[in-house]
Amino acid sequence: MTQEKGTISINTENIFPIIKKFLYSDHEIFLRELVSNAVDATQKIKRLGSLGHYNQELGELKIRVAVDPDAKTITISDSGIGMTAEEIKKYINQVAFSGATEFMEKFKEANDANEIIGRFGLGFYSSFMVAERVEIQTLSYQEGSTPARWTCDGSTEFEISDGTRTERGTDVILYINEDSAEFLDKQRIQGILDKYAKFLPVPVQFGTRSNSEPDGEDENGKPKYKTVEVDNIINNTNPIWTKAPNELKDEDYLDFYRELYPFQDDPLFWIHLNVDYPFNLTGVLYFPKLKNDFEVQKNKIKLFSRQVFITDEVKDIVPEFLLLLHGVIDSPDIPLNVSRSFLQSDSNVKKINSYISRKVAEKLAELFKKERKSFEEKWSDIGMFVKYGALSDEKFYEKAKEFILLTNTNKENYTLEEYQTKVKDFQTDKNGQLVYLYTADAEYQHSYIAAAEKKNYDVLLMNSPIDTHFIHHLEMKLEKTSLKRVDADVLDKLIEKEDAATHKLTSEETEKLKAIFDKAISNPSMKVEVESGADDSFPVTITMEEWMRRMKDMSKLGGGMNFYGAMPDNYKVSVNGNHKLIAKILGADEAQQTVLAKQAFDLALLAQGMLKGADLTAFVERSVNVL
Ligand code: ADP
Repeated sequence: MTQEKGTISINTENIFPIIKKFLYSDHEIFLRELVSNAVDATQKIKRLGSLGHYNQELGELKIRVAVDPDAKTITISDSGIGMTAEEIKKYINQVAFSGATEFMEKFKEANDANEIIGRFGLGFYSSFMVAERVEIQTLSYQEGSTPARWTCDGSTEFEISDGTRTERGTDVILYINEDSAEFLDKQRIQGILDKYAKFLPVPVQFGTRSNSEPDGEDENGKPKYKTVEVDNIINNTNPIWTKAPNELKDEDYLDFYRELYPFQDDPLFWIHLNVDYPFNLTGVLYFPKLKNDFEVQKNKIKLFSRQVFITDEVKDIVPEFLLLLHGVIDSPDIPLNVSRSFLQSDSNVKKINSYISRKVAEKLAELFKKERKSFEEKWSDIGMFVKYGALSDEKFYEKAKEFILLTNTNKENYTLEEYQTKVKDFQTDKNGQLVYLYTADAEYQHSYIAAAEKKNYDVLLMNSPIDTHFIHHLEMKLEKTSLKRVDADVLDKLIEKEDAATHKLTSEETEKLKAIFDKAISNPSMKVEVESGADDSFPVTITMEEWMRRMKDMSKLGGGMNFYGAMPDNYKVSVNGNHKLIAKILGADEAQQTVLAKQAFDLALLAQGMLKGADLTAFVERSVNVL
């Protein structure tokens, strides 16, 4: 063949400068594109071989990446199907640019490089982001083919001539431009390969390691050494997600996890995903041990397409409540050059999302059924996900309600159904409403909990940030059930019964008592109420109404100030008119009345963990005096 020159079929001006500029931040993906092309070419020859359309030796099917800092080149070589000169013209010159006109119109609207590359099939041309000239040396697998060479300097002009390759396959040689010298650094290339090529299905060879090798003797007869480059295979071509679950042992899953996330605690358990209808998806998702700083752990799921790494921003594919999971998802239905806008609009992606959510629910249900004890042990870690999932995904809740656990202050776990059975006898109020009591801090609210337990009430532990929302969710889902924190009111009011204690005081005494306490406390946000409790309960109890406290908790979680957050803390000071001490106060002289009322109030503050600073000191002094 004689040399041939031509113009890439494109009826607009030179678009390479635009590609270069536009794709600036994503330059490194040129390597992913070229190595992926090499993988495709390799898999095609394998397939032709296995179908009997190619009867020659397949040979060693490896891809080789080589960096030559002196020649300023990066070469990507494969032993794939290769191309004839005709095919180069067809696939490289024409096809890639069939969308070029549209490209010129659309590139302004595009949000990222992937969107452009994906939409316009510019995979190969992304090499011009880093190369001033690109050369292809290739020999097609077809019998009687002659080697071909193509070269282009990033303008629309190319040159095709006879090539020099003697074996089937393709070399793509990039002459790296000045601005991209960083890519001549082997460490940098190694880093990019680690990111994108670590699990490619075809072995990728890259020379980074240097070894010393004996090299004769010097003039004194001492052995000499020379440094030689050693190519090693940098990828694992059979990662576990490509295997069938029944081929794998726990240790295999754990090893893979450790490979992906070195220096992390082992995961709690994992889910092997495997679906081929209505979309293709494989993967392994791990439940990590949660640390408090779970913010940092996001973006730990890696998305692959046929073992080529795409991204670890899987926001749209994985339900939000599962973003803290780790692991990999591989779907050929997601294009290599996936863009945000694609992910958001693609219907497969939505299906993947609900599939994952369903799978996770099924796995948890299975674990709960088969290994309840171990499930309970993990609950403190899993609970966060499950509650979040229940809140954000109705379908998930429908499955999860079978295994959502409520934990009480004795650290016992109950399913929703079990818990209802447990407490319904004692905790149903006179209107048939079931009241679940909870505490956010069992230490802090010990006196309230102890008082509840005296009445045979059970108290749940609701101490994670998500519980504020989850409590509300439970109330909406559970029939005739409300949740109240143990300090939301005095016990007799939290769960009102028919046989409530009756008032022993006259209305005059009640008025007087209120006045004594108002004077002793003299704080407008402490609203004194005289009530009739059991005579063995506390003389004074400080409570905050359930809904008011919830609103405040929510606004705290939301951050920033809002209506509820800005409201002062209003408490109720419930004075138990039936208590012995109260009778004593009423009978005392005026000075003594104030001292006793103040003392009783401070004790209530103390029980609520609210007695601090100067008030605490005054209390201690007063107590010493009283004694
Ligand atoms: P895509 O890979 O999305 O088709 P590219 O621009 O990356 O787009 O490549 C265009 C075409 O060039 C490929 O479809 C393939 O036919 C051919 N090609 C590219 N690289 C190679 C290679 N290493 N070996 C054989 N053919 C190749």
